Amino acid sequence: MDQKVRDYIDKYGVTEETRRFLEKTPKMYIGGEWLFASSGKTISVEEPSTGAELTHIPAATVEDVDRAVAAARQAFAEGEWSDMKAAQRERILRRIADLLEQNTQTIAEIESIDAGKAITGCIAVDVAGSIDLLHYMAGWPTKIEGATRPASLEGENFAYTLKEPVGVVGAIVPWNWPLNMAIWKIAAPLAAGCTLVVKPAQLTSLSLLFFAELCEQAGLPPGVLNIVTGSGRLVGEHLARHPGVSKISFTGSTEVGRQVGKSAMDHVAHVTLELGGKSPMIAFEDADVQRIVDATQASIFFNAGQVCSAGSRLYVQESIYEEVVRAVSERANAMKHSPGLDPESEIGPVISRSQFDSICDYIEIGKQEGAEVVCGGEALDRDGYFIRPTLLGRTTNAMRVVQEEIFGPVLVVQAFKDEAEAVKLANDNEYGLAASVFTRDISRAHRVAKAMEAGTVWINTHDMVDTILPFGGYKNSGIGKDLGPEQLEHFLETKSVWLLM
Ligand code: NAD
Repeated sequence: MDQKVRDYIDKYGVTEETRRFLEKTPKMYIGGEWLFASSGKTISVEEPSTGAELTHIPAATVEDVDRAVAAARQAFAEGEWSDMKAAQRERILRRIADLLEQNTQTIAEIESIDAGKAITGCIAVDVAGSIDLLHYMAGWPTKIEGATRPASLEGENFAYTLKEPVGVVGAIVPWNWPLNMAIWKIAAPLAAGCTLVVKPAQLTSLSLLFFAELCEQAGLPPGVLNIVTGSGRLVGEHLARHPGVSKISFTGSTEVGRQVGKSAMDHVAHVTLELGGKSPMIAFEDADVQRIVDATQASIFFNAGQVCSAGSRLYVQESIYEEVVRAVSERANAMKHSPGLDPESEIGPVISRSQFDSICDYIEIGKQEGAEVVCGGEALDRDGYFIRPTLLGRTTNAMRVVQEEIFGPVLVVQAFKDEAEAVKLANDNEYGLAASVFTRDISRAHRVAKAMEAGTVWINTHDMVDTILPFGGYKNSGIGKDLGPEQLEHFLETKSVWLLM
């Protein structure tokens, strides 16, 4: 660990457990064993607020992936998890959730240091949301059931369905919510009785490795959850095309998702793809302006804008355009920039040098395209990857900054005349992950919600997520759903059984 990172950690202080974990050289978790990569190679990981080295993670090889898939297949075949009594499976899942809750501060600190995220958000959203989801999915195993169906054919027939786990799940996770997105991928398949191989993003593997320690303590049998770390190109790609994997559950960019989907189809695996977004917010003239400001804080300026469903395009009815732009930019300008471990941090660094460069490039593209920089529009002059919350005004749908996912704290704003124009502008995009509408007119709110081409629509808020409601994209934002009972179904096969009596 670089001295700059040590100084940063000492300045804010962390638990003894966090120190213990960060001082160890990370190992992967395969078949219940903690292992280095078979090649002995590692990948350096940076701490985003200093840009200095935090640790090295194992650079898994294809042989390591094969070993992890073999361990998951063996565990599935032996049935210690898939055939375990449903009530016992529930108990272990709840134990994992309880251990996660007891270790909230530690895992939040690990996440904050590894991903640059604000510690308050890590505790309140990343970890709390993960605990809730584990408890929610822990409630399902005893309720998974088939059905008897009245057959119409001649003779005495008895026909029914059985629900069975799909088998080994390959899960691939992004870096913007490293723990939380991993739990979104892990909780449902575990509830269904599947076994898994999970690949975290190479920038942010630590919280998931810590989580695996908790699973081990909770009594999850060896081989049920396996974690391989390393690059997407090598480890992710090999996992996606592995014939031993029955289901691929991917969260990440649309570009990579397309390739992962094709690889999975080579061996006809089930696929869920949770992909990118460029979600519109529509603000009508009767809207509560404070609600719009709060929504920008909770989405496009939260987590430094690295939020898949962030409201990144704001369409405002022309009569309130100036008022909304002023209110949003005043709040954005007042946000406290500081490293994630600072409990007062409102906006931390973005994840990496390449993400920082890409966001800065987009801001320049926006300027060249003729957008007005209302606030921000530049990086902070300090170590690490800090970018000011940026509002680009008077944009048009023809601009790249309006059509493409920037994945940083950059909001584009433009005016509209009436409802028909707002809906047309909002739907004019390749993505369809989420959308929101701000109005006091209840009929209009529901009318616009129905008209939106998006998997989730919020009314007078943005980016509320709960375990009970499915989350997933329309159009190029994905296939399938995470969360809710809909997600559990993705990890179950339905077998029809027929008896002629
Ligand atoms: P990414 O697509 O670059 O990487 C996602 C994961 O895929 C990582 O683990 C990566 O190592 C792996 N990967 C990379 N190349 C691969 C390949 N060729 N084969 C297999 N795996 C490969 O995405 P990212 O930059 O980590 O995350 C940001 C993206 O994720 C954004 O587009 C964001 O909108 C999206 N996202 C979507 C959701 C959602 O629920 N829809 C949630 C979070 C993030």
